[in-house]
Amino acid sequence: MKRPNWHEYFFGIAEKTKERSTCNNGMVGCVFVSREGHTILSTGYNGSPRNLPHCYEVGCDLDESGHCVRTIHAEINAIVQAARDGISLKDSEVYSTMFSCYVCFKAIANVGVKTIYYDVEYKPKKYAEQIARVRRDAALMGVKLVNKKDVCDILAQDKLKEESE
Ligand SMILES: [Zn+2]
Ligand SMILES: [Zn+2]
Repeated sequence: MKRPNWHEYFFGIAEKTKERSTCNNGMVGCVFVSREGHTILSTGYNGSPRNLPHCYEVGCDLDESGHCVRTIHAEINAIVQAARDGISLKDSEVYSTMFSCYVCFKAIANVGVKTIYYDVEYKPKKYAEQIARVRRDAALMGVKLVNKKDVCDILAQDKLKEESE
C-alpha cells in the first residue's frame, strides 16, 4: 500500500481544486492548511467573481499585455472564501499548483502564512522581475518558499532507497 505523505496529500488536493478553474489561460488550484492539525482551512481556484460570466462561457478578458483579468487568482479566492466563512488563515500554510504572482504573494504573506509550497515555477525569462520581487519580500517577511520537488520527490526517492536496501 502506497500511502501519500502530508505534502503529497495536500498537493493532490491542490491539483484536484485546479480542475475547477474557469479560465483556460490560467488553471491554478491551492489549499490553505493548518500545519498542526493537518486540516484543510480553505481552497481556491482561478475563477470569475460570483454571478459574473466565466472565461469558458464568454472568452477571456485580456489586458494590453495579453493577460486575462477576468478571474480572481486561486490564492486570493481561497483567502476570500476563508473571510466569507470566518476562518483565520493566520499561521497557516498554503499548497499551490503554481508559484505565486506578486499580488497573491503579498496577500498570502500578509494573512499570516509562514510557508508557501508550490509546484510549477513561472517561466523564468518572462517573469524574472516578478519572481525576484516575491523571493526578495519572502526573505524580508520570513516566509519560506518550498518547491514540491523538495518535499515530495526526495521523500519518494528515500522510500525507494529504503525498499531496495
Ligand atoms: Zn480568462
Ligand atoms: Zn496570483
